[in-house]
Amino acid sequence: MKRKLWIWLLVLASIVLVVDKNPNLIPHLKSTVQEAGVKVQPYLYSLEASVDRKLNGTTQTTTEHQVGSTVTPAESPMKDVSTSNVYYFHFKKDVPQSVRDVFTRAVNTYNATGIVRLIPGQPQTNKNSITFFVYHKKIENIASRTVELGNGGPSSLVINHFAINTAQAGLNLQYPDLSIKDSVAVHELGHALGLAHSSSTKSVMYPMDQGISTLSQGDINGLRAVYRSGK
Ligand SMILES: [Zn+2]
Repeated sequence: MKRKLWIWLLVLASIVLVVDKNPNLIPHLKSTVQEAGVKVQPYLYSLEASVDRKLNGTTQTTTEHQVGSTVTPAESPMKDVSTSNVYYFHFKKDVPQSVRDVFTRAVNTYNATGIVRLIPGQPQTNKNSITFFVYHKKIENIASRTVELGNGGPSSLVINHFAINTAQAGLNLQYPDLSIKDSVAVHELGHALGLAHSSSTKSVMYPMDQGISTLSQGDINGLRAVYRSGK
């Protein structure tokens, strides 16, 4: 009886040792289980807005003074600054044609407003730019039951209230069937141009993908607010 207990202790100790020596073992097992068992809901990730939420525990929604005609809110780096409405955009080398196609249609959607002008070209000093990219990321949080489809956001250097926006927009190719969509591209490019999440279900900036790729009046108003003074 006593000898059996020793053997079991030895087995247990070696399991602990194996796991300890291979820290990747546990995360890998976890993600496999999550992927298999969870009914997922696609969501759209904003770099900047997400940081804000983590810091103050609130979700960005339409503010009081904007009620009446709904305005899609601005990302914090693009609030209360003036910036040029001209952007030079390019794709990273590893971006597949299917992703280039959806982002090109998204570029056309924003250019059609007449509020911004997105021109193909490499980033230039002191000019606004957008880099389109792809990445792979598996779901991490089983409780949230969500899948990240993309991310994007502005990154602004502000001098005397004038912002130079070095923006990014990308799609998560871990879930290509869900992410390579016009609605996701329009959403992530919206973040890059300075739009934050909207509580309006008509907005392309609603945080969950609804398949909407046409800008709402609120989205156009929000875009106009970001670029009201810059030319
Ligand atoms: Zn988003």
